[in-house]
Amino acid sequence: MNSPLQVCPKCRDTGWEIRPVAEITIAVRCECQQRTKADKLSAQAQIPPRYQRCTFAAYQTRDLSQRIAKQSLETMVRLYPHTQGALLMGTPGVGKTHLAVAALHALIQQKRVPCLFVDFVAFLNLVQSTYSKKSDRVKEEIIRPVLTTDVVLIDDLGSFQTTAWVLDTMTYIINERYNHHKVTLLTTNWFDPDVQPRHETTLEERIGSRLRSRLCEMCQTIVIGGQDYRRQAS
Ligand code: ADP
Repeated sequence: MNSPLQVCPKCRDTGWEIRPVAEITIAVRCECQQRTKADKLSAQAQIPPRYQRCTFAAYQTRDLSQRIAKQSLETMVRLYPHTQGALLMGTPGVGKTHLAVAALHALIQQKRVPCLFVDFVAFLNLVQSTYSKKSDRVKEEIIRPVLTTDVVLIDDLGSFQTTAWVLDTMTYIINERYNHHKVTLLTTNWFDPDVQPRHETTLEERIGSRLRSRLCEMCQTIVIGGQDYRRQAS
């Protein structure tokens, strides 16, 4: 993007580049407009600074599950919008958020898709804080982007105290997105019993069978194995 003081040399910030073609001149959309759009979408996606550099290229595949996970998400980006979402399961630090963010970056850069990163615990806290203010408008303003943005990444599903209110809020969001054919990516540290039978609590126990079954319909479940990357890196 041009800085505020820098004028695009091709279109002089009009958004249209004048090109001679044979005997005539034509106006074509300047490529700086495309770059500007991607920059805007990146800012709107609210990807935390920690994950800004998480791309497919920066993701190391050390075992088969990581290779399959990366390929699945790359395919999802290629097929978008004719694709399901993805539910990335794995123990902490195996790169679930990295890969899901990589998909958001790719969707923005390659297809100019509006995306949104949602830290689900922070989001629920924010929604809850609006109750004390008794302001439906504020609550609606916070929830609306999570319902309507084309692709939403819900990070850390299940990492909160599961109350009836939390389950209702989650079910409402997931159902709305499902009904409107919106692609949703989710990450979770909780498993299905067939993947890790000895794990104490299953994802279904955390989020309820209705929601788990809805996620089965709208997402491909991708299990990522391997070691905690944070511990290995240090
Ligand atoms: P998770 O969401 O599974 O808890 P993260 O995606 O937050 O894990 O990864 C933790 C950190 O390790 C991040 O900085 C991420 O970029 C890095 N990381 C994890 N796995 C990989 C990988 N396979 N290749 C490169 N970096 C990785």
